Amino acid sequence: MSWIIQSNQPDQASLFQEESLYFTGNGYLGVRGNLEENDSLPNTSGTIRGTYLNAFHDITSIAYGEKLNAFPETQQKLVNVMDAQTVLIYFGEEGCRERFALDEGEIIEYRRILHMDKGYAERYVHWRSPQGKEIKLRFKRIVSFRDKELFVQEISLEPVNYFGAVTVVSVLRGDVSNFADPNDPRVGSDHVKLLRVTAAEAEGSRAGIEMETLRSKLRAACVSTCRVNQGGRQHITRTDERIETVLAFELREKVVLTKVNIFTDSLRHGEAPLQAAYELSLKLSSLSFQEVAEGQRSYLDEFWRQADVRIGGDPALQEGIRFNLFHLLQSAGRDRHSNIAAKGLSGEGYEGHYFWDTEIYMLPVFLMTNPERAKSLLLYRYSILDGARARAREMGHGQGALFPWRTISGGECSSYFPAGTAQYHISADIAYSFVQYYLVTGDFEFIERYGAELLIETARLWIDTGHYHDGKFKIDAVTGPDEYTAIVNNNYYTNVMAKYNLKWAARTVAEMKERAPEALAELAGKIGLKEEEIDEWLKAAEQMYLPYESALHINPQDDAFLQKRVWDFAGTPTDHYPLLLHYHPLTLYRYQVCKQADTVLAHFLLEDEQDESVIRASYHYYEKITTHDSSLSSCVFSIMAAKIGELDKAYDYFIETARLDLDNTHGNTKDGLHMANMGGTWMAIVFGFAGLRIKDSGLSLAPVLPKQWDSYSFTILYLGRRLLISVDQNEPKVTLLSGDELTIRIFGREVRLTS
Ligand code: BGC
Repeated sequence: MSWIIQSNQPDQASLFQEESLYFTGNGYLGVRGNLEENDSLPNTSGTIRGTYLNAFHDITSIAYGEKLNAFPETQQKLVNVMDAQTVLIYFGEEGCRERFALDEGEIIEYRRILHMDKGYAERYVHWRSPQGKEIKLRFKRIVSFRDKELFVQEISLEPVNYFGAVTVVSVLRGDVSNFADPNDPRVGSDHVKLLRVTAAEAEGSRAGIEMETLRSKLRAACVSTCRVNQGGRQHITRTDERIETVLAFELREKVVLTKVNIFTDSLRHGEAPLQAAYELSLKLSSLSFQEVAEGQRSYLDEFWRQADVRIGGDPALQEGIRFNLFHLLQSAGRDRHSNIAAKGLSGEGYEGHYFWDTEIYMLPVFLMTNPERAKSLLLYRYSILDGARARAREMGHGQGALFPWRTISGGECSSYFPAGTAQYHISADIAYSFVQYYLVTGDFEFIERYGAELLIETARLWIDTGHYHDGKFKIDAVTGPDEYTAIVNNNYYTNVMAKYNLKWAARTVAEMKERAPEALAELAGKIGLKEEEIDEWLKAAEQMYLPYESALHINPQDDAFLQKRVWDFAGTPTDHYPLLLHYHPLTLYRYQVCKQADTVLAHFLLEDEQDESVIRASYHYYEKITTHDSSLSSCVFSIMAAKIGELDKAYDYFIETARLDLDNTHGNTKDGLHMANMGGTWMAIVFGFAGLRIKDSGLSLAPVLPKQWDSYSFTILYLGRRLLISVDQNEPKVTLLSGDELTIRIFGREVRLTS
């Protein structure tokens, strides 16, 4: 059971949410789970009809009431491209025909399934029309992992009591727009029409549309064909923005329709994406659904072989973790143009932007299950390093690189700087993830070619931003991860991450001196690196100020945090959460109230910086004042609760993460899935319950088993080895599945793994 999710409820509210839950994608292309038979556009009433190409964006102006220096003037926005999902089905002769729709007639049986092992979605409807025609319809769809441009739909019609004329209209439409909600800051507020049709043509049985974004002048194309497995008539009609392929046939026995859609764009397919789509269509459109499904299955077999996490004795959570992993895979960018948007390719929330979410919450999953994909995500960051250098200059820094808080193609897209640009920590987060990549893969060549430059440029940013005061290196006027506290001095998280960044920049240069002196000389020439800089980094790291409060024995979130009043939680009505939708930011900034894990996250990422007792006391302190209004929070509290031995708490937080979207606990799943949280579920098992850490000193584990479970197990890749970690009522077991012998630590004790 736990390889599928299933819904039996075709009511409006469930369907809206299911558009995200049942989305199909492959990291390049994402198609929301909209109903084939629904032809209503634009997106207004209870549906967001969407198809997205990762990183395919337009540029829109940011309208400020008051615009100050270095505020970004424009932003990028993921574009909803042409719709190929629509297939209208009519039963009966011209003049008295009835159109299939869920809200017409009667639904005798209904189910919708997402197959996470096979990689396709299906919907089955046994339907009786208002005039009593009974038909069984089955819709299946795949966005292919093998051929990233390919989206195939199969529709089968099986007569029950109706044997007669059927007309199918397969639609390719260009009159699309984005979704907007002016009252929700997590969704785009305007600029809905971002594309215009530049070509709409019918060539033989192929429908083709090419569209261009209004300002970025990127082009996307789609070529679509639709065929039926029995004789009939077919013709194509075309208007400026819409092409219809009409198929008419007699329904006597089961009939199968196959619609093959090919999506291309000018970022990946050169200057003539429509031509490229035609060529691919010639190659791929004769494939049967079955053939695509076989390729999909073997791709996913390999994915699950490496990534599956098994939980014994808790089917609901098993379903949750697989669901989350599957959707992560469906959304992770696979080329240098793209990354993982906050909502992946499942919706338009956060406008398709990439945040620190990738590095801190999602990359670890790929790092240990699919390092090639992790590398590709890091290369994307490297590809925007020049932009980050330029942004640092714009922000008044004489040196270094400042990564944008939110972006698609590299430019800063955040218009609210206190919770945007001010989150300087993103630069240290990216640096941290490059180091993690190195520690997990041992790929020094990657560090030599890309990592070193990025570590150096981010280290330089801290030198330029910080200053010495009272013999300590301090960083003022930044915002940490907690967005209910802004523009503070010495945010613990930022400072400790910057310290790590500085140390690793120095260490990388030292290692390159030994291992790759020529590459170092070349890099030093390219970025003007001077020997003295290394001492500067080390000094700043050593003297980095990390706030500590002795009476409470905790790390304050920042210099002023503990001086503020504590938020009146008892007096806050439950319907006032998330607070950001009910209070002005300044109100929130005046209190001790956290949207999400901040210091607690720092204690997870860099646990050796503090004693266990400080970590424990801090956890208890911040837990009381954290609302978890951000979906990036619960998983971190789960990990840290497990670390300090509070297993019941760890379990409760884990449930929050594992089924957040499946149960729509944040109420906005319709806008897209919470991708960081999805990575967080995996982290809560691997780093939380299993206590896995990867550091300089090697790999360590401290596995515990929640009492609600019989067992759990997962596989990771580490320094060329494949390890299976299984935990049940007995001793935890680590099996070296492949690779050389290895020494690891379990509960601090050295253990040698042999084959
Ligand atoms: C969180 C940020 C996160 C963003 C995108 C916000 O609500 O506070 O930490 O990066 O969502 O997921």
